[in-house]
Amino acid sequence: MQVVSSPQLISDILFSAQKNDKKVGLVPTMGALHNGHMSLIKACKEQNDISVVSIFVNPLQFNNAEDLENYPRPLDHDTRLLAEIGVDILYTPTVDEMYPYQPLVNVSFGTLSNIMEGKFRPGHFNGVGLVVTKLLNQVAPDRAYFGIKDLQQFLLVKRLAVDLSFNTDIIGLPIIREENGLAMSSRNARLSQEGQNIASSIFKGLEIAQKYIDEGKSIGETKLRVLAFYREVKGLDLEYLEFVDPIDLSSYLEEKRTKDLAICFAGYVEGIRLIDNLYLPQD
Ligand code: AMP
Repeated sequence: MQVVSSPQLISDILFSAQKNDKKVGLVPTMGALHNGHMSLIKACKEQNDISVVSIFVNPLQFNNAEDLENYPRPLDHDTRLLAEIGVDILYTPTVDEMYPYQPLVNVSFGTLSNIMEGKFRPGHFNGVGLVVTKLLNQVAPDRAYFGIKDLQQFLLVKRLAVDLSFNTDIIGLPIIREENGLAMSSRNARLSQEGQNIASSIFKGLEIAQKYIDEGKSIGETKLRVLAFYREVKGLDLEYLEFVDPIDLSSYLEEKRTKDLAICFAGYVEGIRLIDNLYLPQD
């Protein structure tokens, strides 16, 4: 595995690979790799000639200095893992290499970034938009892989690729969970055992929602019942629970499930912010 930190070098290496008709896949990550990342990397390896994984903790997308400082960075461990599973290139630019100047360009997503994550994390998606734009320009992949765990991010990146005419297929893959249902996340490592138990109730609430919807209960009643469930969980602080159309994240106005539905959660356990969602296709 080649480990590259220079943006110029990664562009040069991949430009010559692509001239030789090699398909390039990119998995952008912030490291502290877990099985959620691994499922993206597996798909990337299977579908492309050259698999590139980037690890870059992007300061621009953190709206909380403490969260940025405490974000886990086990780079040696990640590097060994990626080498073992046969990734071709690990791309690890430094902050100065990625942002030689304070960027003036602002990638914004209009109404799509004012709701859910965007509403509670001001500036977050501007940072995501800029770093994904830079990564897609530097690596110029044929395919890039994202987790549906970050549903809003995935939809925004898809729009970014269309609006800015990137020649990259944006591929979204399902959420990988722990045995207790907790969605895997690099931030889970900061939870105590007790915190992980509390956090496992996030998915339980989403499953309760699924059960009610499957029984034909209305969206309104389902939401009330799930909110009541979360309220009873000690140590879980709900930030939002939204029932939305997974195409554009607009509020789900229908009383019953008559089209695809996504239920999106954000909240805190032990001061750690966690998100999750459940995608329920139309009956
Ligand atoms: P991160 O390192 O948290 O920025 O995540 C890098 C990519 O992995 C993003 O596209 C995430 O959506 C995806 N990802 C993170 N956790 C999971 C998970 N549990 N299942 C599937 N994909 C995930």
